[in-house]
Amino acid sequence: MTNIIDGKAFAAKIRTEVKHDSDNLISQKSVEPCLAVVLVGENPASKVYVGAKTKMAAECNIKTKDYKLDDSTDQETLLKLIDDLNNDASVHGILVQLPLPKQIDERKVIDTITVEKDVDGFHAINAGRLSIGGEMLKKAFIPCTPLGSLLLLKDQVEDLKGKNAVVVGRSNIVGKPMSQLLIEESCTVTVVHSKTKDIESVCANADIVVVAAGRPEMVDGKWLKKGAVVIDVGINRIPVTKEDGSEGSKIVGDVDFASASEVASKITPVPGGVGPMTIACLLRNTVTSAYRHAGLEDPRSI
Ligand code: NDP
Repeated sequence: MTNIIDGKAFAAKIRTEVKHDSDNLISQKSVEPCLAVVLVGENPASKVYVGAKTKMAAECNIKTKDYKLDDSTDQETLLKLIDDLNNDASVHGILVQLPLPKQIDERKVIDTITVEKDVDGFHAINAGRLSIGGEMLKKAFIPCTPLGSLLLLKDQVEDLKGKNAVVVGRSNIVGKPMSQLLIEESCTVTVVHSKTKDIESVCANADIVVVAAGRPEMVDGKWLKKGAVVIDVGINRIPVTKEDGSEGSKIVGDVDFASASEVASKITPVPGGVGPMTIACLLRNTVTSAYRHAGLEDPRSI
């Protein structure tokens, strides 16, 4: 029988650990972990995410500093704010909510955040440290969604070593870092993308399938090996017709849950799977950064 992975409950457990680590730092060193959250513009989804991050940070005894900038903000103004936050010793993590308005170069902004406060893990140096792995990985910040996906997998799969893993998607935010984390865990990793031929037959050999394609319900149960563990990162809003005939919408993943859950041994639902892990891992990275700034060892390893 398929086991549905409860990402909501696991994320709550991670946040309890984060609060514990934060409280320890406050009592031992009188340092209060602090996350600066920068939102540029009026993107409704971004506003919701930022609101959720601020609320959960408070629950974990992490201070937040919110900066809301106008849609027409120019790059120079944003870079100046980041520079100020880089130099503010009370700030341990800087999050610039993406996407940014088109007049701003995202890569330039990300690489202006000091590596030691890049709790999203998107800076080129943090990406390099993850890619090199080993001791370098211990200095890195790992992007929150792949980190959350890996923590879920480690909780569910006794030994990842030697497992065949397929990652669907090769974005810098999810697919690429996910594949590197799985390599570090000694999985045999195949990355597929929109130009891959015959993805189905690649997935057919996979013990683990992590899907981050941004294509609603793309991966069908027929593609999967019996007993595979499936991590669905996708978040897609699709239109639906309600029972009363009116038009509405619902959130689905990149995996067809109905057919996949017939075949998989374990699977994350959407919503309630990877989604809650992303914010939990952002808070985890922020507290890790505060420990590093205080000259202490990381409170948790991967
Ligand atoms: P991107 O659009 O940046 O990347 C999508 C990747 O999927 C690309 O590598 C693309 O290939 C590949 N792809 C697209 N179509 C296909 C296809 N038909 N077959 C195989 N591969 C395909 O998306 P993200 O990585 O940012 O996000 C992926 C999904 O994860 C989205 O649904 C997003 O909403 C969700 N997400 C969820 C988060 C969470 O907190 N749970 C956080 C971040 C994202 P190519 O490179 O060739 O174009």
